[in-house]
Amino acid sequence: MEQSSEESIRDLIRKRLASGQLRSTDGMIVNARIDNGACSACELEIEHGESATLGYLYRDSVYHGFHARCVVLWEEERRPGSSCHADHANQ
Ligand SMILES: [Zn+2]
Repeated sequence: MEQSSEESIRDLIRKRLASGQLRSTDGMIVNARIDNGACSACELEIEHGESATLGYLYRDSVYHGFHARCVVLWEEERRPGSSCHADHANQ
C-alpha cells in the first residue's frame, strides 16, 4: 500500500478540523496508546513499530492518537496564520 501524500493528509486534517473531528486546541500530550488503532489525522493504522507516535488527551477524556508526521501537519493546519483567507480580526 502506498503512503498517503502530505497534501492528502493535510486535506483530511482540514476537513476534520472543520467538522470538529479534530480539535484546534492543545490537549495534554500523553504516551500514545499503540493499541488504540487508527491515527486521528490520516486514519491509517498506527503500527506497533512506529516509535514516534503521539497522543493527546483532552479535558473531557477524549483521546486522539497521531503519527509523529501527522502531528506536525495538524499543528500547521490548526494555526490561523497558515491559511490564506483573512477573517475579520476581532483584536
Ligand atoms: Zn497519521
